Amino acid sequence: MTIFKKIIDKQIPAKIIYEDNDVIAFHDVQPQAPVHFLVIPKKEIRSLADIQPDDTRVLGLMLKKASDIAAELGLAKDGYRVVINTNENGGQSVHHLHAHVLGGRPMAWPPG
Ligand code: 5GP
Repeated sequence: MTIFKKIIDKQIPAKIIYEDNDVIAFHDVQPQAPVHFLVIPKKEIRSLADIQPDDTRVLGLMLKKASDIAAELGLAKDGYRVVINTNENGGQSVHHLHAHVLGGRPMAWPPG
């Protein structure tokens, strides 16, 4: 069981921003920007490399919710970055699909 599944199941606490039957969003415990939250599917999908045709709906919901929350938190005008680290070279450390949303400061490019 991943740490994110434990957050979904309320076995460990998180600063939850939003939750419905499909997705849950919460603040990252180690923020890398003034605003840094994660949007994850409740379905246990290991990574973006593991999505199946049936998962396209929840992927859309994740991005829509990322956009809605970013707007609610005042990030839309100045902008923000959405990142999905995938497997080892992508820097994924928690093997439950998640989108990072980072904002509140300018982002460098290329990423490290
Ligand atoms: P990854 O490196 O897999 O793309 O991102 C995993 C993210 O999950 C990291 O930014 C890390 O700080 C965050 N994270 C790991 N454990 C916890 C936790 O227990 N609670 C919360 N809120 N975030 C976590």
